[in-house]
Amino acid sequence: MKKNKLALMAVIAMLVVAFFSLDLGRYFTLDFFRSQQAAIDAYVEANPAQAGLSFFLVYIAVTGLSLPGAAIMTLAGGAIFGLLWGTVIVSFASTMGATLAFLASRFLLRDWVQEKFDDKLKPFNDGIARDGAFYLFTLRLVPVFPFFVINLAMGLMPIRVRTFYWVSQIGMLAGTLVYVNAGTEIGRIDSLRGILSPPLIISFTLLGLFPLLAKWMVGTIKARKVYAMWPKPASFDRNLVVIGAGSAGLVAAYIAAAVKAEVTLIEKYKMGGDCLNTGCVPSKALIRSAKLLATMKRASEFGLKSAKAEFDFADVMERVQRVVKAVAPHDSIERYTRLGVECITGEAKITSPWTVEVKTAEGTRTLATRAIVIAAGARPFVPAIPGIDQIGCLTSDTVWDLRELPQRLVVLGGGPIGCELTQCFARLGSRVTQVEMLERIMIREDPELSEMVLRQFEKEGVDVLVKHKAKQLLVENGEKILICEHGGREVRVPFDALLCAVGRVAHTQGYGLEELGIPVTKMRTVEVNEFMQTIYPNIYACGDVAGPYQFTHTAAHTAWYSAVNALFGSVKKFRADFSVIPWATFTDPEIARVGLNETEAKEKGIAYEVTTYNIGDLDRAITDENAHGVVKVLTVPGKDRILGATIAGEHAGDLIIEFITAMRHGIGLNKILGTIHIYPTLVEANKYAAGVWKKAHAPEKLLRWIEKYHAWMRR
Ligand SMILES: Cc1cc2nc3c(=O)[nH]c(=O)nc-3n(C[C@H](O)[C@H](O)[C@H](O)COP(=O)(O)OP(=O)(O)OC[C@H]3O[C@@H](n4cnc5c(N)ncnc54)[C@H](O)[C@@H]3O)c2cc1C
Repeated sequence: MKKNKLALMAVIAMLVVAFFSLDLGRYFTLDFFRSQQAAIDAYVEANPAQAGLSFFLVYIAVTGLSLPGAAIMTLAGGAIFGLLWGTVIVSFASTMGATLAFLASRFLLRDWVQEKFDDKLKPFNDGIARDGAFYLFTLRLVPVFPFFVINLAMGLMPIRVRTFYWVSQIGMLAGTLVYVNAGTEIGRIDSLRGILSPPLIISFTLLGLFPLLAKWMVGTIKARKVYAMWPKPASFDRNLVVIGAGSAGLVAAYIAAAVKAEVTLIEKYKMGGDCLNTGCVPSKALIRSAKLLATMKRASEFGLKSAKAEFDFADVMERVQRVVKAVAPHDSIERYTRLGVECITGEAKITSPWTVEVKTAEGTRTLATRAIVIAAGARPFVPAIPGIDQIGCLTSDTVWDLRELPQRLVVLGGGPIGCELTQCFARLGSRVTQVEMLERIMIREDPELSEMVLRQFEKEGVDVLVKHKAKQLLVENGEKILICEHGGREVRVPFDALLCAVGRVAHTQGYGLEELGIPVTKMRTVEVNEFMQTIYPNIYACGDVAGPYQFTHTAAHTAWYSAVNALFGSVKKFRADFSVIPWATFTDPEIARVGLNETEAKEKGIAYEVTTYNIGDLDRAITDENAHGVVKVLTVPGKDRILGATIAGEHAGDLIIEFITAMRHGIGLNKILGTIHIYPTLVEANKYAAGVWKKAHAPEKLLRWIEKYHAWMRR
């Protein structure tokens, strides 16, 4: 603990101990006050300002130190200064004292409590951050909550000092008035208990609950209002209709069927959506073939004289389709029907908050449902570069149809999809130029990791052009050319095929959002609240269509919240938790991340310590001829709390799991270090990173003493 904290704690402790050991509490009793009232009145008569100020300061000290006596002082305030001045003095003094106690608790204990009970406090923190003023107001009014406990507890929570002050002042006013008023007739009071009669306690409780009830009612009325123009069906034949059978829709339907709801899943194209058909599965299959080729080129490094690969690009692409077919049964109509999901192949359109129209080969059907989950996904974004319509471009939707390897390929975009496909095609034999308008590829990762991927790409013959903005596409003398702007000059890149991988945009048009007035965000995703609800509380959205992340695992994650809230929201709703989101880019080297990286920590002004371990030193990486890469962990300075981790290297996407689990369950590096990792594995890199951190935090002073102890033992 820092010195100034220790000093403050010591001062507070001394004052509290003095109060009790000198029995100062005897001055804060009704009897004592009554016995001294005549003398006090005389003093106040002679020195009104001084008396008022002294009373004010003593009141602040008593409440600021959380000492017993505030109730008696409030009565005394009424008796000495009358209703008006008594109320004014007590109201300000009690609020200032409460704020001092609040600040002391915050300064001394908040960091420690928040760190220790991080996970358990999260729901409280979220609630207070959102509705802290309402809760505090209720607590202040309902007399069962002791004054000093509220001050100290609120100091630990994420509520602003200003909010605490003004809500306390207003919230305590009614109670102050009652006590000060009672104090004006102090002679009639026998004990503190009688001051708040049961009807008064009930009135205060109702008053305290009123803001919460009012907030809930406004929310309910607002939610109802959106339904006003839509006739509600008398009954529903389904609990849930899910639009789109990609990663998100499949999970939503699966959950609904698992909990025995009647659920219909509508897919207009292919079951499995992007991930299975044009995304994760084909890309990872292609990466595997390309990697094998790249490994064969390194045959001599493994002690082999040579290894020659003869292949036909078309066969590689056919293998990719074979893999897709092999995985397809996991997402098939047959499997989902067996699970209890009604699967319909057709195009869905939401026609009211409770009806979905489906156009199928057989005709159009209208389904009545209690809730709807939109999981319509996203599509590749193709920028309006002049000439792109005439010349055409490949996207992640169409690249899988290629059966002839483009000799010269331009990949537009330096994000994960652009990078993965760049390396694949380069390894398969295309001359690839990757064009990125920002200053580096993989901009979301730390610069040295982007650099690591860039160096590997260049080693493999990729021409990476950063800070190049695509301006125009044209054909000159039968040759396709991309014109880029770079540092004010024109750069011309001839090519045979162009692959556009500059991002993906959510599907938000043509299936009823416009008619129902469901808004989209600036990022062009369906607008949802923390429960994944649209403005219609029974219509939810998840996966790529809702964002904020575009991964299969986040699609599944948000689908869980959508389905569970859609089916059980009237009993209990769950807020989507985006606190520990991992991802990986499957380039070679693979880059995987969870939580913060250094770049983000700097941008957000979050204090951090960074620990790195060089995978080049790891035994297993050396045996595998993969001795490169890094584990980089960010922790809270001086504390064993992980803020984020990034791993670059072979199987980084698998290795990162240990940090994801650690962050999700509040485990620190000490625990990772204390866990047996199998030798020799790549995952030992995590343990060694934890070891580097531990060494940097070795208790030097203690070790010097231990050294002396060993020296003494040798005598
Ligand atoms: C090349 C590439 C590689 C990728 N690699 C990875 C990876 O390695 N790891 C990872 O986590 N993510 C990866 N992703 C991202 C991942 O594929 C997506 O995040 C994920 O598929 C999103 O799932 P979804 O269910 O939200 O959408 P989708 O999978 O797009 O599913 C939406 C479905 O809704 C259907 N639909 C839309 N409108 C209607 C309608 N009106 N009626 C009926 N059906 C409709 C569509 O036909 C589609 O099938 C990759 C993406 C690409 C393009």
